[in-house]
Amino acid sequence: MKAIQVTEVGGPERMQLAEVPMPKPGPGQAVVKVAASGINYIDVYYRTGLYKAELPVILGMEAAGIVEATGADVTEVSVGDKVAYAMDRGSYAEYAVVPAWHLAKVPDGLDLELAAAVMLQGMTAHYLTHSTFPLKQGDTALIHAAAGGAGLMTVQMAKMRGARVIGTCSTEAKASIAKNAGADDVILYTEQDFEAEVRHLTNGRGVDVVYDSVGKETFLKSLSCLRPRGMMVSFGNASGAVPAVEPLLLSQKGSLFLTRPTLASYTAAREELIWRAGDVLNWTAQKKLAVHIHQVYTLEEAPRAHQELEARKTSGKLLLKP
Ligand code: NDP
Repeated sequence: MKAIQVTEVGGPERMQLAEVPMPKPGPGQAVVKVAASGINYIDVYYRTGLYKAELPVILGMEAAGIVEATGADVTEVSVGDKVAYAMDRGSYAEYAVVPAWHLAKVPDGLDLELAAAVMLQGMTAHYLTHSTFPLKQGDTALIHAAAGGAGLMTVQMAKMRGARVIGTCSTEAKASIAKNAGADDVILYTEQDFEAEVRHLTNGRGVDVVYDSVGKETFLKSLSCLRPRGMMVSFGNASGAVPAVEPLLLSQKGSLFLTRPTLASYTAAREELIWRAGDVLNWTAQKKLAVHIHQVYTLEEAPRAHQELEARKTSGKLLLKP
């Protein structure tokens, strides 16, 4: 089968279309014929080596497709089921092997491309807004990179929970996409001082929570945007990894809470995974959650897709079709 493989970490050119053996399902595993694979920033980290994987590696952590084969002891799915998953590597390929308990069934009537588009970023937004800092009516959230894939999902779910949303992004075009998704205010953090703007927009109080996926460039200022005892949720590193932090800083900024979560810890049991995946897939099928597809690329176009993602030229979701 065809797959996008990396044998040496580095730039987008390291991603090569390779002919590799078809995966076989072991006990508890299923092979999925990939209809669409989601592209996520985490794929960039594995490609550059910021996150470590054994090489050669097939990139891609998210897909939707049809169960092609199952191994021994699989009870969750059957051959022919329409399924979707996230956080198992190897989806930039025609087939992928996945632990069967990670697979969620795709509701009838939901297109497989849309299902692939919402699993990773949708479940991330779900845990951020429902579990890490469970938003409620009256809360104000600052969401960085609000027009990105995870950003647009988080904006929408924060609004579903009744919060006020202040988003940030780099261009006017992205600002209108974030506003269409429900953001109450949008700050162009490339032109404006977002700390001063947040203080102004909250009458000096600060926000209850910051969902920060940008990392290095926004981390410290984000701490200054929080109200006393607010929560800093540092969940990504699009601009680089955040350096070490002194706990005393959290005290000086007003007894803040800091967490650095990952989706894997919030989908570690099947029950929790199915709760999040079920909500995200059903809301998408019911059109309660809008999906902004930036572009669908072929496998061969994966290097260009990564270039565009890293150059901040995209908004919403990028998909690969094998
Ligand atoms: P996005 O679609 O959000 O793309 C990244 C965006 O980050 C860009 O479009 C850009 O938006 C913004 N950005 C700001 N500074 C930079 C920079 N220096 N270089 C590149 N981009 C920059 O990607 P994803 O939705 O896939 O992921 C967003 C982040 O969320 C990533 O850091 C990812 O690792 C993290 N994430 C974490 C998860 C977790 O569980 N911890 C799960 C899922 C995602 P703009 O132009 O508006 O500034």
